[in-house]
Order: sequence, then structure tokens, then C-alpha cells
Amino acid sequence: MALSGLDIYKLLPKTNCKKCGSPTCLAFAMKLAMKKASLDECPDITAEAKKALEESSRPPIALIKLGSGDNVVEIGGETVLFRHEKTFYHQTAIAISADDTLDDSALLARIKEIENISFERVGQHISIDMIALVNKSSTAEKFLSALDKILQNSKKPVILVSPDPKTIEAALKKCSDRKTLVHAADSKNLKDMCAVAKACKAVLALKAKNLEELDKMSQEANSLGIEEIALDPGFETLHGSLNDLTQIRRLSLKRNYRPFGFPVIMFVKNNDKYQTVVDSCTFIAKYAGVIVLDSTEEDVLLPIVTMRQNIYTDPQKPVTVEPKLYKFGSPDKNSPIMVTTNFSLTFYTVAPEIEASGNPAYLLVTDSEGMSVLTAWAAEKFTPEIIAETMKKTELDSIVSHKKIIIPGYVAVLSGKLEDVSGWQVLVGPKEASGIPKYLKEIWK
Ligand code: SF4
Repeated sequence: MALSGLDIYKLLPKTNCKKCGSPTCLAFAMKLAMKKASLDECPDITAEAKKALEESSRPPIALIKLGSGDNVVEIGGETVLFRHEKTFYHQTAIAISADDTLDDSALLARIKEIENISFERVGQHISIDMIALVNKSSTAEKFLSALDKILQNSKKPVILVSPDPKTIEAALKKCSDRKTLVHAADSKNLKDMCAVAKACKAVLALKAKNLEELDKMSQEANSLGIEEIALDPGFETLHGSLNDLTQIRRLSLKRNYRPFGFPVIMFVKNNDKYQTVVDSCTFIAKYAGVIVLDSTEEDVLLPIVTMRQNIYTDPQKPVTVEPKLYKFGSPDKNSPIMVTTNFSLTFYTVAPEIEASGNPAYLLVTDSEGMSVLTAWAAEKFTPEIIAETMKKTELDSIVSHKKIIIPGYVAVLSGKLEDVSGWQVLVGPKEASGIPKYLKEIWK
């Protein structure tokens, strides 16, 4: 938990010597609390005070980076229990497993399948974040051979799943180009796994039977020099796991309890694909940093990534699309022009309906700061003047010959003023996007 200026002041030498550039120790403490100064600027601070201050400035949940280059995945680093308190910053990473018992061609097919999973939703490109290689064969040879194939065919961060420290050590030597997550140290192999993870600078997942054991393991791993940890409280029932994850998040944020101040990894294993979706969505909402799935099926993954996108969208920043003129089909000088706002959800509700009409058309999107049509109209971000200005900037005069523009039915009230300021004929379209195909086929002339 961050210290106040007065808490910091109590740890400073209190000599007011001014060597730090501040007139008093209290003034320097206030600057530190506001993060406008660095501890190093005070040459007289004791080692104990420095350690205490550095410890208190650590985030309550560690931010951990996996992978390398353009393929870095960040987990943890959250600061609130509920999204509406502020926002969630680092979305739950989704990993898909691959077993080392697969033969070469099946493994390559599996890697390709994971690489090719891709969804486009409200303008965002969504793919799978990581591959979890599972040492199902229990042999180092097969595990290392499978790892070679993954490293050759994917740049995604890797989770190495094996209980054997020697196998993990050999595997980590191959992964020197990307930060790797090891799963897992348990109560039996903890010391050896810590030694390997420390030597290879890997992130170590700790797997325990219950929270008490996880707590002890985290403290021991920390005392053995492991600073980057992922917590695996196990998964027996959804109710039990939900309780564990909530306790971990609460203790780390509300009590600043350091042994639980790390992201959580959950393996979702269920033969019922609907239950897999339910489990995964629960862990995304509360509070996994990584989930590992076996399934590559689209009907399992799509609801999961949709849930993740909804939870990890900043409620204070609406998702927007670029304000500009969009084309559907091959519109020409006689094609209709509809107008709407740049709220992503509005755009992706209107656009498919225009496409479904089969009518080539234009859609003019104005900058409404990410508000929907009615909200933007109420906030004066979707006014006749703004629409007319966007029409002018887009040079609609030279794009079509008919000088007619269709506005959403809900803002029919804008039509008179828009005709005055634009000089165009304003047609009132349907209120709901679902009415667009019928409108374009039967009413537009
Ligand atoms: S250098 Fe340290 S001891 Fe001197 S005034 Fe600044 S904070 Fe106080």
C-alpha cells in the first residue's frame, strides 16, 4: 500500500540538510509521495529506511511480462477489486495446451491451429496469447523435441508444464529468447524448481492444494530469491476456485499481503464445452491472470474472448472507430449515404445491416468522441454543424451526384437545421439498424 507523505517523513533522517534540493525533509517526503522525487536524491537515508520505502512503493499485485519483442504478454498489475472502481489494466491471457505425446505432424497441426485462431470484434483483432506445452509423456526427450517445434513455428510466449526440474531446466535453456512461465513448483519440488527458475530467470508458477499451502510456498520461494511468481490454487470446484481467487485478490489489494501479490494461473479442464465456457468466463471476471484451455473450437473460444473484451474494456474510454467515409460493396455516384457516430458498437451494429442489404452504400462516420447517436445528440457531439463539417471535409459533393444524406431515425429533429447548414436534402432513416436493409431496398430513391 502506498505510504502517505507523513509516513515517508518518519523514515527520513529529519535533519533538513537540504542536500536533496528540498528545503526540508517534510517537503522531500511530500515530493516522494507524489512520485516527483527519487529516494536516491537523499544521500543520508539509512539502508533500512530505503528498503522499507522501496517495499511500500511496490505495486500490490506484481506486473509480469512474458515473451519478448512484439509478442510480450503482460499479466497482473491490477489495482482494484471491481472494474467500476477504476479499470482493469492487463487482460487475462489465454493459453492453449499442446501435449508432447502428439506425433510430429499432429503437433505441427496443433501449433498451426493455435496460430490461426483469430477473431475480429468491434474493430479489434483478437488471437490466442500463449502456448502451454504439457509434458504428458513424462520424458525429457519428447518434451524438448516438442518444444523445438513450438519455438520454430510460433513466437508466442510459452508455458512449460512439467513436474521435473531437470526437464524444465533443459527446456528453459532453449527458451532464452523469450521470458517463459514454468508450471509448476509444488510442495515436493519447490527448492529445485526455484533454483532452476532463478538460474534461468523464468517466472515460476506455484501449485498448492489450498491457500494455506500456497501462502507458505510463496514465502519460501521469495526467500529463495524468486521474485516473479504465478499462483495456482488448483481447481476442484468452480465455487471453491471462485472463493480462492477472490481471497487472493482481496488479501493482495486490501491487506497488501505480499505472498499473494502475484497474478493467478488457472487450468480449465472440462469435457463439457459449455461448462468450459462458464469456468473460463468466471476466471476472467474474477480474477485470473492466465487461463489455460485444451479447446481450439471456435464456439468455445468466441464467448470467452468476447467476455474478456467486455471485462477489460476501460469503461471510461469508449471504443471508437475512425471517423471517415466507409464504403460497402462498390458504391458509385448514385449510391446512398447514411450518417452515424464513431461509437464502435454503433458502427458495428449499422455496418452489418448495410452489408446485409446487398445495396452498395456509403456510411459517413462523424467524430462524436465515442458516443452513440442519442447520447452524442444530447451531449451536442452529433449536431447539424458537426455533420455538415464532416460532409465538407469528406468532399461528399465530389463523391455522389444526388446531394441526399440519410440520418438515423432517432435524430429526425436534426433534419431541418442540417438541410440549412449543408444545403443537402436530408432523409430520415429507420430508428433501428435492423430497419436499414428494408429502407435501402424499398424507400431509398
Ligand atoms: S537530503 Fe535527506 S536528510 Fe537532507 S533534507 Fe533532504 S531528505 Fe532531509
